[in-house]
Amino acid sequence: MKVAIFSTQSYEREYFDKFNINSQHELIYFEASLNADTTDLAKGFEAVCIFVGDKMDKKAIEKLAKIGVKLIDLRSAGFNHVDIETAQKEGIKILRVPAYSPQAVAEHAVALILALNRKTHKVYNRVREGNFSLENLMGFNLFGKTVGVIGTGKIGVAFCKIMLGFGCKVIAYDLIESEELKAQGIEYKHFDDVLKESDIISLHCPLTPKTHHFFNSIVFDTMKKGAMLINTSRGGLIKTEHAAIALKNKQLGYLGIDVYEQEEGLFFKDLSESIIQDDLFERLMTFHNVIITPHQGFFTHEAVEQITKITLKNFTDFEKGSYLENEVI
Ligand code: NAD
Repeated sequence: MKVAIFSTQSYEREYFDKFNINSQHELIYFEASLNADTTDLAKGFEAVCIFVGDKMDKKAIEKLAKIGVKLIDLRSAGFNHVDIETAQKEGIKILRVPAYSPQAVAEHAVALILALNRKTHKVYNRVREGNFSLENLMGFNLFGKTVGVIGTGKIGVAFCKIMLGFGCKVIAYDLIESEELKAQGIEYKHFDDVLKESDIISLHCPLTPKTHHFFNSIVFDTMKKGAMLINTSRGGLIKTEHAAIALKNKQLGYLGIDVYEQEEGLFFKDLSESIIQDDLFERLMTFHNVIITPHQGFFTHEAVEQITKITLKNFTDFEKGSYLENEVI
């Protein structure tokens, strides 16, 4: 099948070319992202393959339907950037990679916790400049601390297990409780109780209309003063303006984010020679107790290999008219 692959990074070409055995599919790579303004690039393709920064809103999907696109295949688990209702109305199938390596994202959440706590981001530069002072580097033991987990699906479960290994007390909030986690001593609580009791909160639920701006000023005020918030899930879970205020008034003690509400214009690009126009993002960058990573939670060899293999399988299933195991319904 001939597929237009959008927002392609060099490493993705390498993986696709390696696992597209016998060139089974004709893959045409575009560096451009796919959105309502760039749909013309998809002319002549029945299938397009997109990543998290490609915006498939109503307008984009209607334009794709008009030019004959029948499949939008996501190289991601999250599908909040796709208007599913419009796709269904237009008869376009949406496939995704529901699970590839939950450990990759869970481990990155832990990396953010450890860096924020022990300030490794600061000390890296200090030592290179010959500054071996311990001033302002004091952290805290994770052992015995309470960690709140919002969303205990595949990534949340992997994260809980790691934090149990540190000797933390792990409490959780989810609409569905995991029996496996309960058996390991994790206690499910009401949302407000998780907020009030946790020293660290990590977000692992999807972005939906219900979870949009889940973490806002009311929630920050309910959290323990000085607690740490980690978000490796989706930027829209946090109302960023409110997070900046909570950081400024020291209600929020640390913020570690791998995702950002307006990340489309920033992440996955080298903007080192540009002037960043997003003032809120720049404000966040001024806080010493904030670490931002550019949506790299998934970015391990193991995860990228799995994403590539499952994406290629999705193409094959669609082409052969087989059961679409990874369809978003
Ligand atoms: P999952 O579907 O396995 O788990 C999501 C969990 O969230 C489920 O248990 C669900 O019941 C729960 N949930 C849904 N709505 C909720 C709500 N209102 N309140 C509390 N819990 C709720 O998903 P997953 O594979 O664990 O992935 C979680 C999220 O991580 C994805 O939606 C995606 O946005 C994000 N993600 C980020 C990266 C990255 O690179 N940073 C990579 C992959 C996934």
